[in-house]
Amino acid sequence: MEWMHRAACTDTDPELFFPVSTEGPGAVQREEAKRVCAGCPVRAECLEYALESKQNSGVWGGLDERERAALHRGRRSRLRSSGAGHH
Ligand code: SF4
Repeated sequence: MEWMHRAACTDTDPELFFPVSTEGPGAVQREEAKRVCAGCPVRAECLEYALESKQNSGVWGGLDERERAALHRGRRSRLRSSGAGHH
């Protein structure tokens, strides 16, 4: 994927993006990962990719898995309420 070459996290410890736990040191790493994402030029592409490929762990595009799940649910309910799929 072309955008990955411009990712801010390629020079960063991957541990930051895939913390072992959501509590304690894992939570701190997660916040640091989000800070790297905040300054990343391909954040939108990264988030879109993570949503499409259903990445269910780690930080992608500045969001952790719980935040991405919430975004996903929000998108689905918006589609339903706009009447998509009806004749
Ligand atoms: S948004 Fe974050 S995880 Fe995605 S490429 Fe950029 S730095 Fe890496």
